[in-house]
Amino acid sequence: MIRSKLEISVNDLILQQKQGWELARINYLGLEKVESKAFEFDGFKIVVQYNPERIRSSDAKTDAKSIAQRACFLCKENQPVEQHGLSFGSSYSILVNPFPIFTKHLTISLNDHLPQEIAPYFADLLTLSKQLPDFTLFYNGPNCGASAPDHFHFQAGSKNQMPLDSEIKQVIKKWGELLFQDEHTNITALGEHYLRNLICLISDSEQEIIHHFDKILSLLNESGPTAEPMMNIVSRYESGEWIVVLFPRQRQRPRQFYAEKTEQILISPASVEMAGLLILPRKVDFDKLTRDDLTDIYKQVSMNDQAFVELKDQIKVKL
Ligand SMILES: [Zn+2]
Repeated sequence: MIRSKLEISVNDLILQQKQGWELARINYLGLEKVESKAFEFDGFKIVVQYNPERIRSSDAKTDAKSIAQRACFLCKENQPVEQHGLSFGSSYSILVNPFPIFTKHLTISLNDHLPQEIAPYFADLLTLSKQLPDFTLFYNGPNCGASAPDHFHFQAGSKNQMPLDSEIKQVIKKWGELLFQDEHTNITALGEHYLRNLICLISDSEQEIIHHFDKILSLLNESGPTAEPMMNIVSRYESGEWIVVLFPRQRQRPRQFYAEKTEQILISPASVEMAGLLILPRKVDFDKLTRDDLTDIYKQVSMNDQAFVELKDQIKVKL
C-alpha cells in the first residue's frame, strides 16, 4: 500500500511518542500482552479484549457536572508535557492515545474547546479516512462513549482490528436491506442477524455521501429532541470508496453496567464495541461474559427495532 504523506508523519509521531513518553511506551508494550477471545456467530464474530488500562474510559463520568469540574485533557494547556501533536489542517491536532486499544491508536481533536457533535465535522471525517488509509476512523456521540463530550474529537485505530472492518461487506451482501442505490452510492440497513441495527453508506463520491449522511441525520433528528441523536460512526476508505457505518443508539450503557456485585459487567459501549471489539477493563467480566450477554447488551444500547423500521422507511422515501 502506498502511504500518504500524512500517514508517514503519523507513523513518525507514534514512534517518537513511544520512545519519548513513558506512559505511552508502557501502555503500548502492555497492549501486546492483553488477553482477548472471540465469540463466533453465524457469519461474523465478536472479539472481547481484557484491557485494565481502559477503566478510565469505561467508567468515565460524562455528566455535565463531572465534566465541568475536571480540566479538559484535550485542551493544549492541560496536556502532559511529553505529549506532542501533529497539525491536520488549521483546525485539528493528531495525538497518540496513551491508553491504546489498537496497535496504533490516535485521537484527532479540534484545537478549539467546542462540544462533540458530528454535523459540522462529518466532511473532515471523510478527508481523514482518505488520508489515513491504514486506519479506521470513528466518532463517539456525546452520550455514546466519548469521554470528552465537551471537546470535539475523532479517534483512529489500525485497520482490521475491529471485526466490522473485514465483515461488513459480506454481512451486508448476505442480510442487508437495500435502502438507496445510484451509480456512486449504496445505502444498506442491517439488523438482528448482526445483533445491532446499523446503516451502511458506501460511495466513491464525497459529495454524495455528505449529502446522504446529512439527510439521514435530519431524519434521525425529526424523531427526537434538539440534542444530537445518539450514535456511533465508523469510517474507512479503501479501493477508491468510503465505507461509513452509522449505529443509531438508544442507551449509553446497558443495565449490567449499573447492576451490583456479581450481576455487574463494567462495559460502556462506544464505536469500537459496536464494531465488534468489546473492551472489558475487569478480568472478572472478561471471564464470565457469555454469548447471551453480548446479544442482550447490543439489543439494549442499539436503536430499538420499531424506531429502526421507521428510520429505514423514511430513508427509502426521502433519499
Ligand atoms: Zn478542551
